[in-house]
Amino acid sequence: MSAIDALPPLRDVIRRHDLSAQKALGQNFLLDLNLTARIARGSGPLEGARVLEVGPGPGGLTRALLALGAEKVVAVERDRRCIAALAEVAEAYPGRLDVIEGDALKVDVRPLLGDGPARVVANLPYNVATLLLVGWLSTDPWPPWFTSLTLMFQREVAERIVAAPGSKAYGRLAVLAGWRTEARILFDVAPTAFVPPPKVTSSVVHLVPRRQPLPCRLADLERVTEAAFGQRRKMLRQSLRSLGVDALALLARAGLPETERAEEIDVAGFVALANAYAEIRSDPAAGAWAMGTVRNG
Ligand code: SAM
Repeated sequence: MSAIDALPPLRDVIRRHDLSAQKALGQNFLLDLNLTARIARGSGPLEGARVLEVGPGPGGLTRALLALGAEKVVAVERDRRCIAALAEVAEAYPGRLDVIEGDALKVDVRPLLGDGPARVVANLPYNVATLLLVGWLSTDPWPPWFTSLTLMFQREVAERIVAAPGSKAYGRLAVLAGWRTEARILFDVAPTAFVPPPKVTSSVVHLVPRRQPLPCRLADLERVTEAAFGQRRKMLRQSLRSLGVDALALLARAGLPETERAEEIDVAGFVALANAYAEIRSDPAAGAWAMGTVRNG
């Protein structure tokens, strides 16, 4: 017995509602309810949980979240054709599923989820997946309104999220994700699990917000990582010049060797760089002081 609810098979739902997949909307549907249940469980125990789901499509993951006990699922879907299909799911779970027709990049979901802890669980549309993740990771204030993010990405993107310093995949996304969350890959999903199958393997990533990330301003961290990884093969003393401050003074103040490259610097190093950047910009003399410390020992 693999069905997790009494609703019709997803293939029937797709046929009846004419949900032929549209590439422009990043539509790769999951029809295996065992797999959608595994993704839902990856977010932690669901009994009584409040969940934001982006892109419910025909509702496979939505059904799993509800069947496993989510108290409330708010699902934001851009494709109007899916709304009627999702109404059937809402009917099967009275009062527990709110479907919002709209663009998840634009809808303000927080008021829709009510007070108290909530989590995000989604098989994301690949064309906007990174943008959505960066939006959640950039939430202000921090800690954010969500207790976790459990999200499907293309494996290459998943690897960039969890990458460690020194690896090829390490870059701005890993620094942002590592600064604010603890992120790990839960499992891979083969292309054959989707309809239609994408070209590449996918991975489910689980991110849990750190309650107290190392202190620095997000805007400063963005600026220094942009400059450093913008020329990732160059030494920092060169790549950081684009910041418009004395790069050597900046590195000295952050306590970082000037000959290192961006991919060798860990999150704490980038936070130090962001704070040094803020200090030097607000007080250019701070840079001169740091240089003095370096020159004079
Ligand atoms: N959750 C379903 C599943 O697992 O079978 C569908 C996942 S499919 C990869 C991505 C879904 O996101 C599609 O239903 C698509 O219509 C929807 N979508 C695409 N762009 C969106 C956006 N900007 N806002 C909300 N939903 C979007």
